[in-house]
Order: sequence, then structure tokens, then C-alpha cells
Amino acid sequence: MADVKLLHSGKVRDVYLDGDDLILVASDRISVYDVVLPTPIPDKGAVLTRLSLWWFEQLADIVPNHVVSATDVPAEFAGRAIRCRRLDMVQVECIARGYLTGLGLTEYRRDGAVSGITLPPGLVEASRLDEPIFTPTTKAAVGEHDEFVTFDDVVAQVGKDLAEELRDLTLRIYARGRDIAAERGIIVADTKLEFGQAPDGTLILADEVLTPDSSRFWPLSEWTPGRAQHSFDKQSVRDWSRSTGWDKTAPGPEVPPDVVERTRSRYVEVYERLTGLTF
Ligand code: ATP
Ligand code: MG
Repeated sequence: MADVKLLHSGKVRDVYLDGDDLILVASDRISVYDVVLPTPIPDKGAVLTRLSLWWFEQLADIVPNHVVSATDVPAEFAGRAIRCRRLDMVQVECIARGYLTGLGLTEYRRDGAVSGITLPPGLVEASRLDEPIFTPTTKAAVGEHDEFVTFDDVVAQVGKDLAEELRDLTLRIYARGRDIAAERGIIVADTKLEFGQAPDGTLILADEVLTPDSSRFWPLSEWTPGRAQHSFDKQSVRDWSRSTGWDKTAPGPEVPPDVVERTRSRYVEVYERLTGLTF
């Protein structure tokens, strides 16, 4: 094991400290309904790492990013790790939504609004919003759920200038991602971004970006508002796990080889369609 120190192990990724840098390592673990399944999906970590790297480049004219190197990483993580600048992270999860689903839909049904933004009546599961909205959440401690906060809450937390910058960047990044994906038949329903600050205060895009783990991707050809959408990447595992009668609590069931293979090819397909590259 290289001389790096494990700082944090998330559901899917591990974070190591190496001098002043972080090494973000994407594993092949997959979570469904927030439970990590015991069976890995081969190449998932590599696909998500390459996809993030590709997006960082596509977005470089909008925002600087934390990438230092994709190759200067410990050999055992090669291909699925990114060396990045360790930043002072802004303690807000910056979410953009172009479609209504998940917790956003729950919030809308209760309040008619998400993060304090009032939406028109009559919207349903997977409705497309006229304008994408910024629906920030707190960064929850382990085991707790993130909670929506309003834009004014973000202003109170980080100040007006930074709050506006976070909102504007989040919406510009979402719009760029949505447009590129739409050309390739993929809907980006929503996405979560994380920003950090350089010592001079400059905002820097960190974490992962526009991956299936940080975003909801739907096949455009199957989009039907009013029902739950098929997930571009996880649908096979979800359908299969339901068929087993699993109650969606940990531990999750072992995934059979044919479902693993179908899921692996979906991740590769997302990557290849979005980037136009061969995995
Ligand atoms: P989950 O499994 O729910 O995603 P998590 O978000 O705690 O849990 P990871 O996403 O695996 O786990 O962890 C990545 C961590 O690294 C996050 O806390 C993120 O804020 C942090 N991070 C990402 N990029 C940087 C950076 N450049 N500098 C400092 N911290 C960063
Ligand atoms: Mg995370």
C-alpha cells in the first residue's frame, strides 16, 4: 500500500490524503435505494472516474476544477482515481433540478415549492420544469439525510456574493450538461455539485461531476411524466432486486452474473454515449 492515509470511506468512494493532495478513489461498489450491494460492478469505478474527468474538461470554460492528475496516483488505484487539490469545501450541496422527482417531488407535493421556490400547480413525477432551479441542501453528517435549504439560508451561511456565485455556476453547469446529454438521448433530471475554495477565495468545482452517482440520468426515448422513470444505469439492478422481494434495507442481496453484466454495459454505454469515446 502506498504511503497515503485513508481519510474517509463513503458508500462508493474512498478518499485518501497524500501530502497536500487528496486522492479520490472510485470503487466498483453500487448502491441501490441507498444500500450498498455486496456484489461489485466491474469497471464502474473506472467509468465514473473517466466520465468526471471528461466533464471537468467540458466545463473548464465555466469553472476551474480540482484535478491535479489522473495518472499520478498509487498503482493499486490506477484508472479509477483522481489526484486533486485539497480545498476548503463549501458546506452546501449545490443541486440543480430540471425535472421533478425524488425528494424534490416530495417537497413539492407537501409545499408546492422546493427550497423555497414556488412551482406551478399540477406538476407530476418527472415533469420538466420551465426553468431549472437551484435547490441546495445541507451537507448531512453520516447517517443523516440532507435537508433542503432556501437560497436565503445559503446567503445567511456563506454571504450574498458567494451564494449567488454558487447558484449561478450550478445552473450554468447543469445547463451545459443537460444540453450535451440531450444531444445523445440522455436526460439529466438533476445533479449535485460540490465546490471548494482556493486560499484566495476562488470557487473551484470539486468532488465528482455529472456522473450517474451524482445525477439522475434517464433515457430520453422512454421519458413519460406521471410515472417513475427508468434509470439509465441502475434499472436492471433495481428491477431484479424488486423481483427478489428484498425489503430495501441492509444487507442487500448478492447480484447474479447476468444482472451484473447488464449493469456494467449500461455504465459503459452512458460513458460512450455522453463522451463519444470508446471505453
Ligand atoms: P456518500 O457515500 O453518500 O457519497 P460521502 O459524500 O460522505 O458519502 P464520498 O462522496 O465518497 O462520500 O466522499 C467524498 C468526500 O470528499 C466528500 O465529503 C467531498 O465533500 C470531499 N471532497 C471532494 N473533493 C474535495 C476536495 N477537492 N477537497 C476536499 N474535499 C473534497
Ligand atoms: Mg458524496
